[in-house]
Parts: sequence; structure tokens; C-alpha cells
Amino acid sequence: MSAARQMDETCMNVEKAESGLPPGRRKPRRTNVPDASGAGGRKLRTRRLNRNALYITIGVAVAAIAILAVTMANANRPSLYAVTADGELIGYTDDPSIIDQIVWRLSEEESFRVGAEAIPSCQVDCQKVKWEKGLEVTDPDRLGETLKERIGFVAKGYVVCVNGEDVVALCSEDAARGALDDLRKNYISSIVDAGHATVEEVLIKERIDIVEQEVPTDLFRSKDEAVAILTRGTDKMLSYVVQRGDSLWAIAQANNMTVEELRRANPNIQGDLIKPGDNLNLIVPDPYVTLYSRELVTYTVSIPFSTEVTYDSSMWPWQETVIQAGKSGQKEIVEEIQRENGQEVGRRRLSEKILSYPETRKVVKGNKQVPEMGSGELAWPVQGTITSNFGPRWGTYHRGVDIGAPAGTPVRAADSGMVVFAGWNGGYGNLVKVAHGSDMQTWYAHLSEIKVSTGQEVKKGDVIGYVGSTGRSTGPHLHFEVHVEGVAKDPLSFYK
Ligand SMILES: [Zn+2]
Repeated sequence: MSAARQMDETCMNVEKAESGLPPGRRKPRRTNVPDASGAGGRKLRTRRLNRNALYITIGVAVAAIAILAVTMANANRPSLYAVTADGELIGYTDDPSIIDQIVWRLSEEESFRVGAEAIPSCQVDCQKVKWEKGLEVTDPDRLGETLKERIGFVAKGYVVCVNGEDVVALCSEDAARGALDDLRKNYISSIVDAGHATVEEVLIKERIDIVEQEVPTDLFRSKDEAVAILTRGTDKMLSYVVQRGDSLWAIAQANNMTVEELRRANPNIQGDLIKPGDNLNLIVPDPYVTLYSRELVTYTVSIPFSTEVTYDSSMWPWQETVIQAGKSGQKEIVEEIQRENGQEVGRRRLSEKILSYPETRKVVKGNKQVPEMGSGELAWPVQGTITSNFGPRWGTYHRGVDIGAPAGTPVRAADSGMVVFAGWNGGYGNLVKVAHGSDMQTWYAHLSEIKVSTGQEVKKGDVIGYVGSTGRSTGPHLHFEVHVEGVAKDPLSFYK
């Protein structure tokens, strides 16, 4: 409002100064001519009888003639005007209409730049002054440059206010509404891109007003800039290009940020992965607006199948027949997720639909008893020294003894029996289990090579494999276990 009033005054001042009259027809400004002649006249009358006055009279007359000559010369010169911007002198012109034209041209340029009618917010005046020694007309181009620097403009803008706070000004109501629309659209696409979601609702939680008001034109922002400001909370840009050897921690440290803040400023960083040339944003977003959304997500989960085991006493325990393979079922789940600025703040399950039921896996396993085959007297399975005993060890329980021996040393069955397992078993590595009847087994782990196969009968002392370091092992050794009725016992208690 005040800017508009100021602007009207500016126009009036410019018009006043110009007034449309050609310089010749203007009323001449007061010069020093009447003063000088008046004073001279008085002096002639009062000092007529003074003899010395003659010389003075002649001097004054000469002076008067000289002044008159100068005045007549000046009378032929055009008038001089001091140009001021908000009261500050910026130059002289002999043609106020030039100033008017410059102001008009600058206003047009600014109007074009911001897309709204720009009005000078600074008062430009032309005031007639008398010619004095040293004064000269300023080059119009220079006056134009100076004015361009000095004149500010205001224009009718549309200010996006968040909870009553002016945040950003745009040149049109369409642009302001467009920025808010883009804000929502960007938000929706960020959610949709992240998963199979249908966005049901997006709203801005804060009160948003678009207020029409006079705004200094240097505060105008484009639609995209406005979106960035509303999202980031600032139009400051500060970024960093990752160099070789940089880490998130080092970059955060160097910029007085925490790693957490650096991550918030760069949500696209996966884990700690940054590479030279990456451009990191150093401004932690502090959005002016909170976008709240409700989205529907539909996803399927598998329903695990169960296994039904039946036993056949004609089959060995390591044998099994799959009668039905078993298949997972599928369930479709629809959930509503509520988010604020992308962060999940609530979730509600709306429906669950079974797409397919799981099919039970059906297996027949053998439970034929291994005949009593051992003597009950165990032989030592390998030539070597005990490096670790049975019992608690390093917070766990060591279920056997470790016998250190060079890799490739033969490992022998501690008693006669039937091989019920020969193959890889996780931390055990290559493992052989020999059953010596229904209630006793010996296990041989970390073997470099297995020489027997499941179902095979072995005699006490037969080579079943070789010392190695397979599975969870730090060097060649035999890990040897003795099980009685399914429970690991201290192997050494069988050698007395
Ligand atoms: Zn061991």
C-alpha cells in the first residue's frame, strides 16, 4: 500500500519536473542578475558624493556588465536539473523527459522479468538548479546505469503464507497455486515410486493462504523455486562434491553436521555408499509445510506349508520319500499407511484375502532300527593330541573333543556300525555319523575327504575319511563326538 502511494508520488514528481513546456517558454529561474543590479543601484544612489566612489562605481559597473554578460550567456543555455533518487543526488540533466524515459524503460524491463507490472519503489526527482561552475550534464547512459542500480521495484505479488507467516512470493495467483499443486504432485510421485501404492489423500497440515500484496520484485520466486523453498525450508543451496577417501562421517564433521543430519539432507544415500563425484546436499531440510498422506498398499505374502511325516519301518532313518511336494499359499493384504513428509506415522490393515491355500508337504521317513553292531569298546579314531576338551568353551558348549593331527591323517571308525550320515553339515564341514546300534553314534567332523557313504556298514578301525579343516575350523583337526540315546557325552569317558 505504502509502496503504491510512494509510486504515485514518484510519477507526479516526474511529471511535475517535465511539465511539458519547452525550456524556452519556462519562467526563468531566479538568477543573480536582479540581485546584483539592485545592489549596484542602491550603491550608486547612496555614494554619489564620495569622490573615491567614482572608481568603485566604475568597478561595480564593470562587474555588473560582466555578470550581465555571463547571465545572458547562461540564459541561452538550457535549464539544469538535479536528479535525485530517494533524495540522494545521482546526476544532472537538461532534459527531465530523459529521466522519465529511463524510469519507464527500467519499469518495463522489470515487469517483463517478473511477469507482473513493476512499479518503482524509489522516488526519482528532477529539481531545477542554477548553473554553477563545475556543473555539467551527466551522460544519460551513466544516469541510466545509476538508476538501474538504485531503483527498487514493487509489484502486485501473491504470497504463500504458512500459518500466517509469509514464506514466498510469486508473480501470479496461478503460479502460487501451481507451486502448491506441484508440491503435492512431487510428494505423491515420491510415494508411488517407492512402492505399489495408491495415494488416497494428500493434504498440507498447516493453514495455507495466498495473499495478494505489494512485494519488492527481488523477492519474487519462480514456481519451482517456491516448491523448493516450501520443501526445504530455505532457498539456500550448499552442496559438496565427494572426493576420494571421503566418508560420511568426515564430510559431516567438516560441515558441523551429524551423520544423521547428512543422511536426512540426502535421503538417497544407500548405507554408507558414497563415491567420488557424488554431489551431497549440505542443507538439512526443515520444511515449512507438512504433507500428510493416506495411501493404500496392496501386497502379497506367502503362507508357509506344513510338513506331515509318516514313518515306514522298512526304510533306514536316513531314507525318505516325498509323496507330496508341498506348496506355499498366497495372501493378499491391503493396508492403509499414513505418512507425514514421507515418514510413516500410522498403518492399518484393511483387508486380507487368501489367493491360494498352502499344500501340505507329505513325507515318509524310515525308522528301521540299526542293529546292535558295536562291541561297546571304542578305539581311538585318529593319531594325534587332544587340543580341546568336551564341555563349556567360550560361552558355548563343546560337544566333543578336538584331536589335532596333520591334514590327510586317516580317520578310523571307533567301533563297528552303519554310516547314517556322510556329507556336508554346516559348521561341522564334512561329517560322518556312524550308528553302532539303536542308542549309540560316533561323529567325525571337519574331514578333508569322506571315504564312506550313507547306509554302508563299517568295521571298527576302517578308514572312513581324512583329517581336514572343513566347516567352522581354524586348522586341521578331528572333532569327535559320542552320542548315547541322542545326547552328546564326553568321548574320553569311553576310554578307561
Ligand atoms: Zn571340536
